[in-house]
Amino acid sequence: MSVLIFVDIAEGEVKKSSFEALSYGAKLAAQTGTSAEAVALGSSSADLSSLGKYGVTKVYHISNPQLNDFDAQVYTRVIGEVSKAAEANVIVLSNNLNGRAVAPRLSARLKAGLVSGAVALPDTSNGFVVKKNVFSGKAFANVSVNTPVRIISLNANAFPVSTSEGTAEVIDCPATVDAAKVKVTSTSKASGEISLAEAEIVVSGGRGLKGPENWGIVEDLAHALHAATACSRPVADADWRPHHEHVGQTGFAIAPNLYIAIGISGAIQHLAGVNRSKVIVVINKDPEAPFFKAADYGIVGDAFEIVPKMTEAIRKLHA
Ligand SMILES: Cc1cc2nc3c(=O)[nH]c(=O)nc-3n(C[C@H](O)[C@H](O)[C@H](O)COP(=O)(O)OP(=O)(O)OC[C@H]3O[C@@H](n4cnc5c(N)ncnc54)[C@H](O)[C@@H]3O)c2cc1C
Repeated sequence: MSVLIFVDIAEGEVKKSSFEALSYGAKLAAQTGTSAEAVALGSSSADLSSLGKYGVTKVYHISNPQLNDFDAQVYTRVIGEVSKAAEANVIVLSNNLNGRAVAPRLSARLKAGLVSGAVALPDTSNGFVVKKNVFSGKAFANVSVNTPVRIISLNANAFPVSTSEGTAEVIDCPATVDAAKVKVTSTSKASGEISLAEAEIVVSGGRGLKGPENWGIVEDLAHALHAATACSRPVADADWRPHHEHVGQTGFAIAPNLYIAIGISGAIQHLAGVNRSKVIVVINKDPEAPFFKAADYGIVGDAFEIVPKMTEAIRKLHA
């Protein structure tokens, strides 16, 4: 019996969300008296034995280059096979784009109960009960999983990364990989952009910025903070910003350490996508803007005056 953690690799590097999943899986294994093991697919430039410091004892590495591009169906098959060979009774993934694509497929394939969006370690004192976010983060549910194999996808920033001394044994697995039904022929990445899904800090703009020509102040602040940029839905709908920046109920749900909302009213549909942020800073000229109720820090004033001053102060601090 073991806890198997899926390690997400992008461009040869382990994604930050996987460190959280590894730490979570290792704690769960310690809690249930089993071992924590990991599975990584595709070529990796990272030293996978170093994942031992997150508490895993083994890393099953299927380095087949056919796995370098993510394919949900192929990944599901391979992770499923590894989980059977490792006799895993719990599989942990990150609740990110890849995890959301693989976890339900894996659940159907292994006839395993799935809890998506877990926010805490399972309570194993009487059964296996996992706490998760529901209603766009407005409430929690405690879900009891009764299948022999359980799958958990962990929300970003829900569990701290913990490290100690340790090296994992890396086991190269020569898995046969069936041809993918969908083939990625090329990938082009927007250069210089920080991924919204992975960003620690997000600077976001709303309709209060009046038009796309004013986005320079948002980008300057984001640049100074090494942050990703985001926007409210009407901003994306009006083509002021690309749709992949739209956060909220109908857009991306994010959980950065710091979310700075500029000229955004804080409608419930917007909050649904950002209320898991650790710290929320709101800049709005209307003191009655609903966003202030959800903010950790609020600045009442004109964004066009405040934001450039913030950027200047941060640049000075860095210098
Ligand atoms: C089914 C449904 C789903 C939706 N999904 C989403 C979603 O996923 N994401 C989302 O964002 N919205 C979503 N919406 C829309 C949502 O209800 C709001 O209409 C939207 O979030 C408002 O965007 P906003 O705050 O940018 O604009 P507004 O509501 O127009 O707010 C602009 C804010 O800027 C402030 N402001 C103006 N000038 C300045 C200035 N100079 N300096 C500082 N502040 C200033 C104003 O005081 C105001 O608070 C959805 C709506 C529906 C019905």
